[in-house]
Amino acid sequence: MFIYIAGAGAMGCRFGYQLQKSGNEVILLDNWQAHIDAIKANGLHITGDEDLMYPMTIMHPTEATREADFIILFTKAMQLKAMLTDIKSIIGAKTKVLCLLNGLGHEDTIREFVPQENIMMGVTVWTAGLKNPGVVFLQGKGTINLQSFSSQGEAAVKDIVDTMNAAGLNVIYDNDVVPSIWRKACVNGTMNSTCALTDSKIGQFFGSEAAIRIVKTIIHEFVLVGTAEGVKLNEQEIVDYVMHTAEIAANHYPSMHQDLIQNHRLTEIDYINGAVARKGVRLGIATPYCQMITDLIHAKESILEIK
Ligand code: NAD
Repeated sequence: MFIYIAGAGAMGCRFGYQLQKSGNEVILLDNWQAHIDAIKANGLHITGDEDLMYPMTIMHPTEATREADFIILFTKAMQLKAMLTDIKSIIGAKTKVLCLLNGLGHEDTIREFVPQENIMMGVTVWTAGLKNPGVVFLQGKGTINLQSFSSQGEAAVKDIVDTMNAAGLNVIYDNDVVPSIWRKACVNGTMNSTCALTDSKIGQFFGSEAAIRIVKTIIHEFVLVGTAEGVKLNEQEIVDYVMHTAEIAANHYPSMHQDLIQNHRLTEIDYINGAVARKGVRLGIATPYCQMITDLIHAKESILEIK
């Protein structure tokens, strides 16, 4: 299969590596010049469970000209629209497009560029990190839950699911993936912003009654808004899931801490707590914690002069 990875950061490199290794033709698309230069010069340096240099093709999105069978979107949320604009010419009538970004509402952006029947939305617990330009850290295993928006459902994407499974990506076809996307957004919405703002590891933040009150209130706001949008969410099940995830990841800084505090990069807050606050305004549902968290993250971005 001929596959583009649109956004070849940590996760894009992981998926691109696994899909090329299993026999597909893969091209990475990215805009970070130092990263492109490093991969062109030396190949992708895989570290973690393996240590090897792996040759991969990488180019700027606007340099890609051949229509794709399959495109996996792996930008950060705030880069998605610009990426789709840049790759418009390689999205053909039959090109399937999968979005595995964290956050809410990406399908509305993708629909502007891709026919509904070719869109797949999903959520993944695979992880990856970039150590330096051209150097990715891959450890452990994961799974992907995805759903096709085609009226044919699973049958429309059988070849894609088979291809990803042949690459060891552990895809589960999910007939209702939206609740899983919201549940993951609850994990991100309770840990990412709070740990970034309090400069703490997940276990440190979750260690006080005050913090648990904040976590539960944020989840409550997500559930009120999601339910009003028709998403099937069970508040207690989400609280249990978030607590369990926090326990497993207790010793880690979440990705927003890495982006904002460690690397001084813009965050995905507008697509997590910010998305819930915006939807809340539209639906007439108060979401004061999500709004406050979003404003505080933007204030911190401004204090750090991140653009
Ligand atoms: P990433 O930050 O590694 O890469 C995203 C984009 O930013 C890429 O185009 C990359 O080249 C660019 N970039 C990265 N570092 C840069 C730097 N220092 N300077 C300039 N550009 C830079 O993002 P990711 O971790 O691959 O995440 C992609 C999406 O997947 C996000 O929505 C994220 O929330 C989600 N996600 C990530 C993980 C994870 O473990 N990393 C897990 C699940 C979902």
